[in-house]
Amino acid sequence: MIRTYSNFSLKKHTTFGIEATSKYYFEFTETDDLAGFLATNKDWPNLPILILGEGSNLLFVDNFQGLVINPNIPGISIVHEDRNNVWLEVGAGVVWDDLVEFSVFHRWGGIENLSLIPGKVGAAAVQNIGAYGMEIQNRIESVTGYDLETQTEYTLEAVDCQYSYRDSVFKNQLKNRFVITSVVFKLDKFPEFILNYGDLKNEVEKLGNVSLRNIRQTVIQIRESKLPDPKVMGNAGSFFKNPVVDNVHAAQLKAVYPTIPTYPSSAEKTKLAAGWLIEQCGWKGFRRGDAGVHEKQALVLVNCGNATGREIYDLSEEIKQSVQEKFGVELEREVNVISLP
Ligand SMILES: Cc1cc2nc3c(=O)[nH]c(=O)nc-3n(C[C@H](O)[C@H](O)[C@H](O)COP(=O)(O)OP(=O)(O)OC[C@H]3O[C@@H](n4cnc5c(N)ncnc54)[C@H](O)[C@@H]3O)c2cc1C
Repeated sequence: MIRTYSNFSLKKHTTFGIEATSKYYFEFTETDDLAGFLATNKDWPNLPILILGEGSNLLFVDNFQGLVINPNIPGISIVHEDRNNVWLEVGAGVVWDDLVEFSVFHRWGGIENLSLIPGKVGAAAVQNIGAYGMEIQNRIESVTGYDLETQTEYTLEAVDCQYSYRDSVFKNQLKNRFVITSVVFKLDKFPEFILNYGDLKNEVEKLGNVSLRNIRQTVIQIRESKLPDPKVMGNAGSFFKNPVVDNVHAAQLKAVYPTIPTYPSSAEKTKLAAGWLIEQCGWKGFRRGDAGVHEKQALVLVNCGNATGREIYDLSEEIKQSVQEKFGVELEREVNVISLP
């Protein structure tokens, strides 16, 4: 199935729920459709390109004067299986949480802690999504897509995806160039549970035995109690990444702010909690017009109704500046800001 539009409203295609249009929009369900579309629309190399999933990590500050490509490719299939593992090939357009439910239903472990993260499977491989002590890079075997520059389809093995914290080659050299069409995941038939994040273990045990189903249910409950539902209040989850600083800088901060949460990141680096830093600057629950900071989680910026992308962006700039002034720490946005001049 192919859908093409011009001056297409993206409001329902982003979880911030902000009005913006794209000059052209192309959605397809089979890779061959993309090659066919590019062959018959010769103007596309002159246009800015944006590859879209569910729009749960995007903020449009302006209309997009280019071509939005949405690879809405369905399907989950077993490509290989042995005594201990199963390899699933999953279309880029599959809703991420549907894949988690599918794997838990079949009792295959490895992605249960990532329950209820919004978005599609293609973007999960771009973003290296993570939560509750799990990161998807540890389950990705390979990523297949269509390279708009070379106009060829090829597969990257996980080692070539340059994964690190919320980062990958698809966010850098291959950004808006490599249209991911499917991802192969390796899951465990005899899973080892990861429960060492926060209070997860205790919370799971409240439901009874430790099982994939109970972990999934617990993660869903915690997320629903802490994070705003984008269907009710527009947002894109964590607006900033957790900053990583030198150990020396972290120690200086600890001396001044003894309660600052710190996590070892490597031998020389320490990760800080962006939400804590923002909260200490007094932003939690802040609201200006319809743009605000969530009252339970300072890391989440929200659209309380009709905020514009520019209002949310300007607020994020003020937050960045205040954290820089108070702690000497530079926050980096996790959310992709589109069409900044
Ligand atoms: C309430 C809430 C909670 C969240 N919690 C978490 C969390 O716990 N952990 C976490 O990691 N993230 C979290 N997020 C962020 C978000 O869900 C993830 O980043 C998700 O992977 C984005 O998926 P998407 O399909 O919406 O991608 P989009 O927002 O549409 O796109 C994200 C990026 O990926 C690119 N992209 C999308 N699809 C493709 C493709 N097929 N090929 C190539 N490039 C592509 C886009 O160009 C863009 O750069 C949360 C978001 C919300 C709203």
